[in-house]
Amino acid sequence: MRFILACLFATMSFAALAQESGDATVPLPKPRPAELSSAPAVQLPRHRPAPPAPQPVETPDTPAEAPAPSDPIGPPLPPGEHAAEPAEPTAPPRIYQTACPAVLLGKVEAKALPPIEEKLCGTQSPLSVAGVLANGRMVPISGGVETDCGVASALPAWIESVDSYLKARDNTEIAEVVVGTSYMCRNVNNGSDGNLSFHAFADALDVVGFKLEDGRFVTVEQGWSDALSSEGRLLRFAHDAACAHFTTVLGPEANALHRDHLHVDLGCHGKTCTARICE
Ligand SMILES: [Zn+2]
Repeated sequence: MRFILACLFATMSFAALAQESGDATVPLPKPRPAELSSAPAVQLPRHRPAPPAPQPVETPDTPAEAPAPSDPIGPPLPPGEHAAEPAEPTAPPRIYQTACPAVLLGKVEAKALPPIEEKLCGTQSPLSVAGVLANGRMVPISGGVETDCGVASALPAWIESVDSYLKARDNTEIAEVVVGTSYMCRNVNNGSDGNLSFHAFADALDVVGFKLEDGRFVTVEQGWSDALSSEGRLLRFAHDAACAHFTTVLGPEANALHRDHLHVDLGCHGKTCTARICE
């Protein structure tokens, strides 16, 4: 009996020990992370970095503080030295003038003169004309003729027609064409006001008369009055023939101012520069 009781006691003790050891091995629930610290469960947003301090804005009124532009050509100048002032534009190294085809072709004997600049008058490429080709020879033109290429170019054909008239009618020819006024800075008819004459642009000639190979000197002043004389006929032929080569021809019958010469020019008349004045 004692043995049975002893076994029973031993069994109960073992069970008690097993109960105690089993309780000790059961893991306790881990505390939640929120319970481990006092930090708040929701993370707050971080503070944004402070914006940069506003910088002063440079205005066009403060160019001195602007950085100097870099020199694209040369190295920067040493301190204390300043760039040289830009040079003034210089005049072209040559005088620009145009050549005259009639001179190039040998129809007019002339030298180029410097440009004429006088108040509102002048021309860029004047010529000093000494002679024109007529009927195969160079006919001298006296009077110190200064004219432009246009008038110089119209002369040979006109002078040749007059020379041909003399050959056919009077069996002589022109020895010299005498010119009075060519270039002159003045108004029309020498007026104190009004339009400038084409003489002012070296585009007009006043022919005083013709020296002939037979020794005569036929002048407008002395020869025009007698229309039936040899001189009168020659001068009228010369006047009318000029109207085919120039746009303006004025003789003694135009007005008293032209009683002693034939004025010829190449002024523009009419809207298309094709009208002519032949008086
Ligand atoms: Zn004139």
